[in-house]
Amino acid sequence: MKLHELSLKEQLNGLKEGSFSSTELTQHYLDRISSFDKSLNSFITVTEELALEQAKESDKRYKSNKALPLDGIPIAHKDIFCTEDILTTCGSKMLSNFKAPYSSTVVNNLSSDGVVVLGKTNMDEFAMGSSNETSFFGPVKNPWNKEYVPGGSSGGSAACVSAQLASAATATDTGGSIRQPAALCGLTGIKPTYGRVSRYGMIAFASSLDQGGVLARSAEDSAILLESMSGHDPKDSTSLNEDVPNFLGNIDSPIKGMKIGLPKEFFEKDLPNHVESSTKEAIETYKNLGAEIHEISLPNVDLSLPVYYIIAPAECSANLSRYDGVRYGYRCEDPKDIEDLYMRTREEGFGSEVKRRILIGTYALSAGYYDAYYLKAQKCRRLVANDFTEAFKSVDLILSPTTPDTSFKAGEKSDDPIEMYLQDIFTIPANLAGLPGISFPCGNHEGLPLGVQLVGNSLKEAQLFQAAHQFQEATDWHKNLPEVK
Ligand code: GLN
Repeated sequence: MKLHELSLKEQLNGLKEGSFSSTELTQHYLDRISSFDKSLNSFITVTEELALEQAKESDKRYKSNKALPLDGIPIAHKDIFCTEDILTTCGSKMLSNFKAPYSSTVVNNLSSDGVVVLGKTNMDEFAMGSSNETSFFGPVKNPWNKEYVPGGSSGGSAACVSAQLASAATATDTGGSIRQPAALCGLTGIKPTYGRVSRYGMIAFASSLDQGGVLARSAEDSAILLESMSGHDPKDSTSLNEDVPNFLGNIDSPIKGMKIGLPKEFFEKDLPNHVESSTKEAIETYKNLGAEIHEISLPNVDLSLPVYYIIAPAECSANLSRYDGVRYGYRCEDPKDIEDLYMRTREEGFGSEVKRRILIGTYALSAGYYDAYYLKAQKCRRLVANDFTEAFKSVDLILSPTTPDTSFKAGEKSDDPIEMYLQDIFTIPANLAGLPGISFPCGNHEGLPLGVQLVGNSLKEAQLFQAAHQFQEATDWHKNLPEVK
């Protein structure tokens, strides 16, 4: 087996047993990046020198029996996570020259467990998008078929893991940006409970929804990485003060008797046949594994998309006001006065999707409209969250398709924001309620992967990993990988 074909867990064992060194593994991925990434465009920055240095240190620790839990595993970070002295762009011209003065907690947590950083991955500008076409650094291609999008906003992380240019990658999910690209690229992706992973040093889009997580090739690999990233962080006031369980702990336990709910509002939608049949097949697999399937109702769930598109732009308009050309990032040339500096910096530095969100958000927050839009949206958000609280009184997990269809062709939806926003119809509710959600592969249609999503109750990531892992023990969908050329 070639090194990139091994799972993260197998690579870790190989390193421990001395079957290969981290330097070999890292060089192998760097070679693959230079052969295949020109056409995929999944990386904005490749940190070759740093990676080889870190790999060398890992190899030394293995030799002296001082290996760290993830020592020598080469991963990539979404370019939304600050990395000290390394370019951190968030996919925007606004930060195209920004070298962060410090590293995010996610990056630090993983580094102190010994990972090797291959580079920073491409993404939709400020994580706004579902196709990775809004990046200042150009679109990312789907490794399954380069005419198709990888999903977004974590499209670079998804494409590089799916093309096996990295063992796994970090990502973020505000309305679906981990789970949707996972589905479109045939990967396993988890967005944990809001507050499980620190947002310190993770560039803000919509602070009450943003959550860091993982894109990997299996539930097992995702669990290994998420455990290292998670934990209470005094530097983030919304970080949960909860112990991080061993996410692999009961991954092998059978799920007999586990109660899985199917929200009727989701299944009443007009879904393409291949989405319906692959979801039904996934449900059958769960029945065969001994799970109990129940129909449930989330009566307010259809409010999710409109509510999200008030709250997310409102928070984004506040968060992005810091990019003014004064402090850091892009600054326009020869400003006439301070007003000109602000206006031209923002006009030239932001792309059109980001501007659209800022305009909607500023409008929704303005005096006279605040009550009608923002406050109303907050009330509706509570209704959606309450529906989940009610549902989890009778079921353990909630299952649905992850996306309304397989991937779409580049350019197909870029002129129609509503069509693009509809990509996240099944993923956004979990963000509004702050709940953990996982997507994993459950089928393939015309050469493109399909995903199924499980949402769990607050802090129940371990149960999600267990249910996804049991599915992956019973099926081979997650083992399908694209042939990269
Ligand atoms: N596609 C959604 C948006 O554009 C979600 C993005 C995300 O999760 N970061 O807002």
